[in-house]
Amino acid sequence: MANLRTPGPIPLDDEILESLGTQMINHRGPEYKDLLFKTTEGLKKVFATKNDVYIITGSGTAAMEAAVVNTLSPGDKVINATVGVFGNRFGVICERYGVDITTLEFPFGTDVDITKLRTCIEANPDVKAVMITHNETSTGVTNNIKIAAEIIKGEYDKLVLVDGISSVCSIPIETDAWGLDVVATASQKGWMLPPGLAFISFSDRAWQAHAESTMPRFYLDMAEYKRYFEIGQPPFTPSISCMFALGTALDRIEQEGLGPLYERHATIGQFTRDSIRELGLDIFPEREEIASNTCTAVSIPDGVDGGALVTKMRTEHNVILAGGQAALSGKIFRIGHMGLTSHSDIQETVDALKVVLPQVGFTKSL
Ligand SMILES: *Cc1c(COP(=O)(O)O)cnc(C)c1O
Repeated sequence: MANLRTPGPIPLDDEILESLGTQMINHRGPEYKDLLFKTTEGLKKVFATKNDVYIITGSGTAAMEAAVVNTLSPGDKVINATVGVFGNRFGVICERYGVDITTLEFPFGTDVDITKLRTCIEANPDVKAVMITHNETSTGVTNNIKIAAEIIKGEYDKLVLVDGISSVCSIPIETDAWGLDVVATASQKGWMLPPGLAFISFSDRAWQAHAESTMPRFYLDMAEYKRYFEIGQPPFTPSISCMFALGTALDRIEQEGLGPLYERHATIGQFTRDSIRELGLDIFPEREEIASNTCTAVSIPDGVDGGALVTKMRTEHNVILAGGQAALSGKIFRIGHMGLTSHSDIQETVDALKVVLPQVGFTKSL
């Protein structure tokens, strides 16, 4: 079996794989109703929210799009605070829907600068919302959402729309305590699940915004999800298989406890960074305190052929790394360590790197 170290999906274990093989049920019947209610309760605990949480059949981007089309109207002004490719995507979604965005961009490998965030909102007092990525998977950077939300919500009373796709269920997040109006996440990241489901939380403020929003929407209209939830059904045919697996994963999350789960991710993140540095490589985000505990971005040193590195890792060692996206192509590679990643998965990756690096132009002595 390949050591799949992409930042989602991550290999699944037998218990989850078996639950995916469960026979189909009627998604408008009583068994599904129980499963929907139970999993939604479990999701709320992980989001740390009393707000509504909905399950969308789709990838994380569907939940990002849902955040936009359910709270904004064409012509609304928003600030998109972005530190990477996924932050930029939030902006592109807005643009396609005619939202008037001010882009507050930070260099790849850095986090959102709080002073600049404040200045930007100050200069654009009529914005309705601020969009921000909790964990930017393209650069391996975690933003301090608590502090950002204190400014966006606490000081300026704007809607906070969060891409928590690679953070929720891996990195601590407190939806209600931090005042996050919409948080989007997806099953193939920290949830120990296959791709296929997106989860989205929706605050009362987000519902107010929904009532004012004139954006066209159909599949992603959260009002439909709400209306159907009240009768214990999904609005459209769900991925029943993924829902069975979600039930299994949430039972395990409950057993493990969120504290230990976050601790496990922090430990594996630290172990990955320490091991990478021992090889003589640099972590792409320079500041340790913003380095992600779900995905480590590693700088490819001058003279090293990054493409050959990723290829050799796959063909000769069965370790699947992710390259850099957009402007970071050839400049970094990434190691995913969310969900069920074990120390031995990372050790195996590091051992293979030790062999491959000198073969692709790395000259520092190991
Ligand atoms: C993976 C990821 C996405 C994209 O999610 P899809 O499930 O591929 O649509 C968006 N944002 C972040 C932060 C991610 O990690």
